[in-house]
Amino acid sequence: MSFKDHADNPFASLSPAVWRASTVVFDSFEDFAARKKRQPDGYSYGVTGTPTARGLERRIADLEHARHCVLTPSGQAALMAVVMGFVRAGDHLLVSDSAYGGLKAFASYWLAELGIDVEYYPPTVDGEIEALIKPNTKMICIEAPGTITMEMQDVDAIVAVAKRHGVLTMMDNTWASPLYFRPLEHGVDFAVEAATKLFGGHSDLLMGSISMNDFSHYEILRETQSVLGLAVSPEDCFLVMRGLDTFPLRMHEQSRNTLKIACWLESHPLVTNVLFPALESHPGHRVWKEQFEGSGCLFSFILKPAPEEAFSKFFNALEHFPIGASWGGTHSLVAYYPANQQKARKFALTDQPIIRISIGLEDPDVLIADLEKALRQYHSFTEA
Ligand SMILES: *Cc1c(COP(=O)(O)O)cnc(C)c1O
Repeated sequence: MSFKDHADNPFASLSPAVWRASTVVFDSFEDFAARKKRQPDGYSYGVTGTPTARGLERRIADLEHARHCVLTPSGQAALMAVVMGFVRAGDHLLVSDSAYGGLKAFASYWLAELGIDVEYYPPTVDGEIEALIKPNTKMICIEAPGTITMEMQDVDAIVAVAKRHGVLTMMDNTWASPLYFRPLEHGVDFAVEAATKLFGGHSDLLMGSISMNDFSHYEILRETQSVLGLAVSPEDCFLVMRGLDTFPLRMHEQSRNTLKIACWLESHPLVTNVLFPALESHPGHRVWKEQFEGSGCLFSFILKPAPEEAFSKFFNALEHFPIGASWGGTHSLVAYYPANQQKARKFALTDQPIIRISIGLEDPDVLIADLEKALRQYHSFTEA
């Protein structure tokens, strides 16, 4: 009896095979006894993936210009896995104050309780991060631009400091994606993507990826995936591979439409600030232009102050922007971040509420008309 696919099977297809497995079976007693030696690339148990996961890891590594990639069940799991793989009690961890909220919650409520010295740094600290480095600093968590408030970080300057002090760097690169920024080419050790967003591209799955060049880091992260049980569904891998076929086309189109809509909003009298580094008015524009090759489909803006009811009018008037978290899919989305959440930050950018929109593949003129109509509602309310 053979459990193997037949080598002489004449079937061929453009579509990758979905290999399901918890159990991996072995040819011999000796093979089974030595199964751990198959890591990090091979197959010993379903938790570290089947050939379907390896195929997707290869494709993401190629996009990132990386040697290795490890998949995780979500973007949040990818961020946590990098920290859990390398940071231990007694270490000092530097996290950008505008990093993804889930990473900050993990750092504040778990890592700090486990004896890790967690410190949030101002997102625009750039090379001056050197003053925050301690003898026990282990890792710097970068995200550019930052979640919601979109501060740019000078990745080159931070990496230069980290390298001088032997500190690891990880970057959440979900906004730019490897099409517009490849962290490893800038010396970052770990490039993290929420594949949930642009790679999947259709708002119907969750996944994360960690790409890197160093083989010993790869071995540690494959083991971390195994120990923490970070299994990824082969069906979801299949869907992300399908998403990747159209990813560059979607990204370029969504990026162009986003720029158009951001420029329109910037000229609107009710808009006080558009938080989007591709605009010349953004304080991080110079850094973005020097280091990035394009801009994403997600940005935020701040309106002239008004009571919360005016925001309610605005959101409920929108017909082409469903209200929801996440982003990067073919459908546009809008989300609200109240003022108290902004004020509570250590290095707050604003004390005003923030509106964040993700631009999908709809006609940008239809989206602009929709925003214009909703802004009229906001305005009429503020006048009343
Ligand atoms: C959504 C997001 C994450 C988390 O990804 P999930 O797959 O939803 O867990 C991490 N970082 C950024 C920048 C994100 O936008």
